Amino acid sequence: MPAHCRLIAALLVPLLLCAAPVAAEPLVIAHRGASGYLPENTLAATALAHAQDADYIESDVVMTRDGVAIVFHDLYLDATTDVAARFPGRARADGRHYVVDFDYAEIRRLAVHERVRLEDRQPRYPRRFSSDAGLFRIHSLADQLALIRGLNRTSNRATGVYVEIKAPRWHARHGLDVAAAVVAELHRHGYRDGLDRAFIQSFDASTLRELAAAGATRLPLIQLIGENDWWPDSRTDYDRLRTPDGLREVAGYAAGIGPWYRQILLGKTDAGAPRYSTLVADARAHGLLVHPYTLRADALPDFVGDFDELLAFLLREQRVDGVITDHPDRVRRFLAGG
Ligand code: CA
Repeated sequence: MPAHCRLIAALLVPLLLCAAPVAAEPLVIAHRGASGYLPENTLAATALAHAQDADYIESDVVMTRDGVAIVFHDLYLDATTDVAARFPGRARADGRHYVVDFDYAEIRRLAVHERVRLEDRQPRYPRRFSSDAGLFRIHSLADQLALIRGLNRTSNRATGVYVEIKAPRWHARHGLDVAAAVVAELHRHGYRDGLDRAFIQSFDASTLRELAAAGATRLPLIQLIGENDWWPDSRTDYDRLRTPDGLREVAGYAAGIGPWYRQILLGKTDAGAPRYSTLVADARAHGLLVHPYTLRADALPDFVGDFDELLAFLLREQRVDGVITDHPDRVRRFLAGG
């Protein structure tokens, strides 16, 4: 080959390689941090998820009485903190202590522990972190974003954030706008659009629709999809959202869906083959990303042999765009072929 041809080839080949379509790797989204290893939604669980090379770290957000957006899953404090011992007499009639009845300074005094069942206070996941030594605290969304920014700087990575707006109607009844608080905090920390590696998710369809309609943010929105019988008072009809018509509407305001993975993987046939719904294909037909929740290595359906088999069904066969998992290291290892 003449020299000038070799030169042209040398210039062209990298260009062609760059232009070739590259199949996007599915996202590893750490559910409430690396919550399989440390109490959910704590700074420690966040740091571990970051070290385990999650692409995104998922966080739930609720608000305190004095309007601080905190990283916490439940509307009440009883399943993951020592609130009953620390603040006697502050429960409502149902016996629960609600986040909206406490100021942030009070919330900061609570010790966070591994999730327990309210009925018998036994661990929800018995093999998980069980220390009762008061090691962990609740923190604000602002602190969460600051920690991730710092870790990204020190590790030269770009781990993203995946923030869930919890129960907007409940907050509105208490004079709090949790959707506006989440959006404002993300914008304040420099998350402006999808290139900044942030998603906003919610189970509440009208809240996401309103954010989109108002042009409140350019961050991509993810519609979480539950089951109608989980929350009888929900104003979102999840059965309808899963239909092709429902998904078309979702595509009008959201970038993707976050379905329960059992809405995709239905079970196995008598011959042992996985049975799937058409949800992934139907969502794709409307250009929606699919990020199913919650894959837990220590809580498998009885028809699945091990975690890798479950991951193979969703990541290899259904080719979802990402998974929300309590065990980000295990998903990362699976994707690496180990
Ligand atoms: Ca969540």
